[in-house]
Amino acid sequence: MKSKPIFVTQPYVPPLEDFIPYLEKIWDSKILTNGGPFHQQLEQALCDYLGVNHLALFSNGTLALVTALQALRVTGEVITTPYSFVATAHSLLWHNCKPVFVDVEPDTLNLDPARIEAAITPQTTAIMPVHCYGNPCDTAAIQKIADNYNLRVIYDAAHAFGVQDAGGSVLRHGDLSVLSFHATKVFNTFEGGAIVCPDAKTKQRIDHLKNFGFVDEVTVVAPGINAKMSEINAAFGLLQLKHMPQVMQRRAEIDALYRDKLQGVQGIHCLPQAGQAVANHSYFPVLVQPDYPLSRDGLYQKLKDHNIFARRYFYPLISDFPMYRGMPSAHRGNLPVATAAAQRVLCLPIYPALTPEDQQRVIDIVQGA
Ligand SMILES: *Cc1c(COP(=O)(O)O)cnc(C)c1O
Repeated sequence: MKSKPIFVTQPYVPPLEDFIPYLEKIWDSKILTNGGPFHQQLEQALCDYLGVNHLALFSNGTLALVTALQALRVTGEVITTPYSFVATAHSLLWHNCKPVFVDVEPDTLNLDPARIEAAITPQTTAIMPVHCYGNPCDTAAIQKIADNYNLRVIYDAAHAFGVQDAGGSVLRHGDLSVLSFHATKVFNTFEGGAIVCPDAKTKQRIDHLKNFGFVDEVTVVAPGINAKMSEINAAFGLLQLKHMPQVMQRRAEIDALYRDKLQGVQGIHCLPQAGQAVANHSYFPVLVQPDYPLSRDGLYQKLKDHNIFARRYFYPLISDFPMYRGMPSAHRGNLPVATAAAQRVLCLPIYPALTPEDQQRVIDIVQGA
């Protein structure tokens, strides 16, 4: 008999009975969306929890990325990383911008600031880096380049919920930061997302853009989209937020146990955590090196044979998908570090409900290969 499946992640869901009072309020008020009371409460609660001043909720992270580009009127070429979820670059194509891929740093697998300048052309207007796996980018170096060349910076912070560096929330960096609250993320609202912005005026513009450009009943100021979060999603977020301390604690324990048990395994390299004062342990990436007895895909398959579904995030690279691979910056010769990482990386299961026994099953297989 096969043991029960273990997936790379499992959404955190609070007890159902705790959600009923929220539903009753929605049923009573008949306010289902359009910036209702739960929407307002969640925006405030997230600002408090994350330590940021202004945040606009969205129906998902991808629409938040597209709206962030719209809010800053980004055009032309945007420098970004090939080592991410495909939505990062898709948001640029959807907004009629041209992604220009720049290689990543070997330690963090984040956009390498040392390679950005060479990719800047007169058409470049912005940089879209990703805090990959929640490891903060070199935000100081990126901002310095942006200042020198007058570029906007939009962080895809989909992995960086709750992450802090020495100065506070990583979400304060750049012109805007974008979060995803998709079911697979550390904090979820089933589907959802947010833009973190520096001032009330920018938030107001973003709020207009996510609601068709409406300012009032008769005034439309921009060709906005519908990207509002509904009351049911916002209510779920409020309940979920109450559980975040335990969620983060459990993730930290799982992370620590993997690091402890895998550190002596030849050919398995746990990606170091760098630059965080507070980490969120959103993923557990390991690099399967040539001196491991199996290839990365061999280990992936072996785990699968034991009903453990690790994931190769991020393989294939975004730059290898058909709508990108013809671009000059997508050539593998331009992206050696990202190309090597995509061949070696495997993300192991990490989520609050992963039991110590289940984690041991994963460890035994990685150790015993
Ligand atoms: C999840 C994710 C997104 C997209 O978020 P959705 O809420 O699923 O639209 C964008 N970028 C990165 C890096 C992600 O991991």
